[in-house]
Amino acid sequence: MSKAAALNVSIERIQRDIEHLATLGQTPSGGVSRTSFSSADKQMRQWLHGQCQEHGLTMRTDGIGNIFIRAEGMNVPKAAPVCAGSHLDSVPEGGRYDGIVGSVAALEVLRVLGQAAPALQRPVEVVIFADEEGNYHHLLGSTALVDNFTWEELQQLRGREGDLLVDALSAMDWDPRHATRTALSSHDVHAFVELHIEQGPVLEESHTDIGIVTSIVGLAGGQLDFVGSQDHAGTTPMRLRRDPMQAAGSFLGQLARIASGTSSTAVLTCGLMEIEPGGTNVVPRLARLHLDFRDPDPDVLSQLEQRIIDCASNAANQYGVEASFRRMSVTAPVPLDPHIRALLREVALGRNLSVTDIPSGAGHDAQNMARLTPTAMIFIPSAGGKSHSPQEHSSWQDIEHGANVLLDGVVRLAQA
Ligand SMILES: [Zn+2]
Repeated sequence: MSKAAALNVSIERIQRDIEHLATLGQTPSGGVSRTSFSSADKQMRQWLHGQCQEHGLTMRTDGIGNIFIRAEGMNVPKAAPVCAGSHLDSVPEGGRYDGIVGSVAALEVLRVLGQAAPALQRPVEVVIFADEEGNYHHLLGSTALVDNFTWEELQQLRGREGDLLVDALSAMDWDPRHATRTALSSHDVHAFVELHIEQGPVLEESHTDIGIVTSIVGLAGGQLDFVGSQDHAGTTPMRLRRDPMQAAGSFLGQLARIASGTSSTAVLTCGLMEIEPGGTNVVPRLARLHLDFRDPDPDVLSQLEQRIIDCASNAANQYGVEASFRRMSVTAPVPLDPHIRALLREVALGRNLSVTDIPSGAGHDAQNMARLTPTAMIFIPSAGGKSHSPQEHSSWQDIEHGANVLLDGVVRLAQA
């Protein structure tokens, strides 16, 4: 009995698609601005529709703009589909690969399956999530697949420019009322796999072809206030000051130590700070640090928060000021499916690719899909770890590797 011939993606077709998509919303810097429901997003949807017609695929768009693509026909089994996909929107001045690689690769999987027609027990469906980059809402489309938005919630959502989501949906010629009926049930999807660029430097530095994502990082945000005494910068002797900036400085000098002392994967960042009243000749009253801290393990995330509070209170005591911490948000870490992870590792090794486990430090639609169905993610290297920037880059070879692992993984899942 002969073994079925191995299927392979066409990197030429993938390259052609990625290069074409880079022209939709292209910016002078060589980046891409294709925010959700913009005119570039509309062009993308028209292009995708043309691709589907060319390859005999059916494209459906739900009320919030998520796109579903599949082959229809007598031979397509009636069962819950194996889904693969990502997003085709970008941040303003984003790159050519974030979301695009996984979306185009999933489309290529359908094209390969259409040509080769292997025997499958389940259909394969491509999902392109709307507004992943959160112009209107963080992971808008996949959030709407897990829970319906209410009409009241939808009416509140606004974009970066202050425009209303419901107006943006109307401008796409859609009825915004349909955006309240988007949720899927766990019976609607058999499994979900997303291929994505790493958006960090780990795979490139370790010369690894494929990362199998263990979990999507838990993310917490909080405000740390140091409050002291507002005084004259010229007349108040140093020994009599209660200066919150000095406490803040001492705390900030310990960020790396606080993170590494909690776990090797924890990260802690202060990217924004407010000083009150704010003047070169005033000892400030308040230094407010906005903190972002992440770890794939929920227990570590709460330990990290406790260490932040302890270190802040030590720094405050040292300078005679008060410290208070307010947690603003917590998104729990999402572990990905161990069975699909093992399967993806096996197919990657079967193609003689190097593989490693890796946590995702960024949020992805897969974290919502994991609430519906067994879900996994494949990462490929990002040159220099750059992302959300026109400098974002992944090599055609790495993209081909990732797309072939996606293809093999999807086929294996659809055969079961
Ligand atoms: Zn992305």
